Amino acid sequence: MIHRSVSCVAVLLLLVQPLHRAGAQAVTDDAQRLVGAFAGDTPLLRDLQSLTDGVGGRATGSMANARAVAWALARFREAGVDAKAEPFTMPVKWLERSASATIRGDGVEFTAAVAAMPFSAPTPAAGTTAPLLDVGYGKKEDFERLGASVRGAFLLVQQDELRDVDGLFREYAESAQIEQRAFAAGVAGVVYMGSRPYNTLYRHNVSIGAANTRPMLVMEHDAAEKALRLLRSGTRLTLTERIDIDGGGAYQAQNVIGEIRGATKPDEIVIIGAHLDSWDLGDGALDNGANVAMIIDIARQMKRLGLRPARTIRFALWNGEEQGMVGSFGYTKTHAAELDRHVMAGSVDIGCGRINGFFTGGRPEILPAVARSLAPVNGLGPFTQIDAPIVGTDNFDFMLHGVANLVANQESALYGQNYHAHSDVFAKCDPQQLRLNAAITAAVVYGFATMDVPWHRQTRADVEALMKRTDLEQQMRTFNLWDEWASGTRGRR
Ligand SMILES: [Zn+2]
Repeated sequence: MIHRSVSCVAVLLLLVQPLHRAGAQAVTDDAQRLVGAFAGDTPLLRDLQSLTDGVGGRATGSMANARAVAWALARFREAGVDAKAEPFTMPVKWLERSASATIRGDGVEFTAAVAAMPFSAPTPAAGTTAPLLDVGYGKKEDFERLGASVRGAFLLVQQDELRDVDGLFREYAESAQIEQRAFAAGVAGVVYMGSRPYNTLYRHNVSIGAANTRPMLVMEHDAAEKALRLLRSGTRLTLTERIDIDGGGAYQAQNVIGEIRGATKPDEIVIIGAHLDSWDLGDGALDNGANVAMIIDIARQMKRLGLRPARTIRFALWNGEEQGMVGSFGYTKTHAAELDRHVMAGSVDIGCGRINGFFTGGRPEILPAVARSLAPVNGLGPFTQIDAPIVGTDNFDFMLHGVANLVANQESALYGQNYHAHSDVFAKCDPQQLRLNAAITAAVVYGFATMDVPWHRQTRADVEALMKRTDLEQQMRTFNLWDEWASGTRGRR
């Protein structure tokens, strides 16, 4: 640990670059003090350990999630940061109690470890049994090959190993298409071969969310591969699934919002957020405990150093993210009257890999502000902004409301393989990189809370224009979010 701290200090001291612009000197000095703070022995890693090992996996609606809310409020308050839990409505409850699978054929019987996909339907206690069919990769021609035989069957989908964040977005896009074909053909359910190494299980949302009515599973890789080999050598198989779900209707969950009030423009707001909830198989370290701990530490260090930027900063720990970014959606409803004065809403949600820039949402007018805010940490670069809208985390509803939004773009590191998986635990996070990411994020937040900015909140027409000139609509369809926007239930009217 000492080694890590020392090298961290060295890196930060070398890389914090002095600026010599006379008028901005005080602000620059403050930004540098803030950035330098993360080289010290702050409680960042202790917090991450206590959230992951202590509270553990914390799906929204679970007891662990309620403990996580209390944990986060206590961390903010111990640091002297004002904080409150803000309620919002979750549309449905979905938690897996148990899931199992047995595969049988002529002279063959074996069980396979499985995870129910979020929004999977339960089965009767005795299970549901149906023929298991090889649907290959689930492409159009695979369905044509199987024809009417898929009706009432479980379809086993082959998958390649997932290695990085790009692979993850590909997996989401492909499964949305596979499920569209499968549901239209009247299948009993879909079973995905696990795409992670070492038979690791994980949760992958059913693409149509709470509208789903079928049992849906991810099966450990080796058992799924065995079943495919048997099917391909002519053995007919059936699958018996038993899925028990703790489900229900709408209920209340809570975001945790810490706040440092602005010194001269307190009514203008900058948000930096990460989601507090995680899936439950692992401990939610990379997704997204690491960035929760980071955001708490940024608030803590600002308070400790007595920094008061011009604008109010809200440190948002969202809930309900994994079920459709429901907590940040709830915030945009609760704070609708303030959204004109939200200058920027940032999210960090890609684990502990190096932050190498930001997604800036297809708004070139904010690029100069990002570059200026990164000046105190330029030595931790290079940083490259990608000026495109991105769907998949808690910037989304701010984007639909026309609020300038950023998402930290990070190297995949160990994020892809461990995403939503058993293996997303404390040891997967690189502690030194997390400290450097804290310095980068702190610089950006402080910059946006301090500098003069030229942009305004976009109108609905502006957001529609953004959709026309980018692939935003397609991304929203992949994540089952298009209809809510089109019907006016989500986003700026
Ligand atoms: Zn996440």
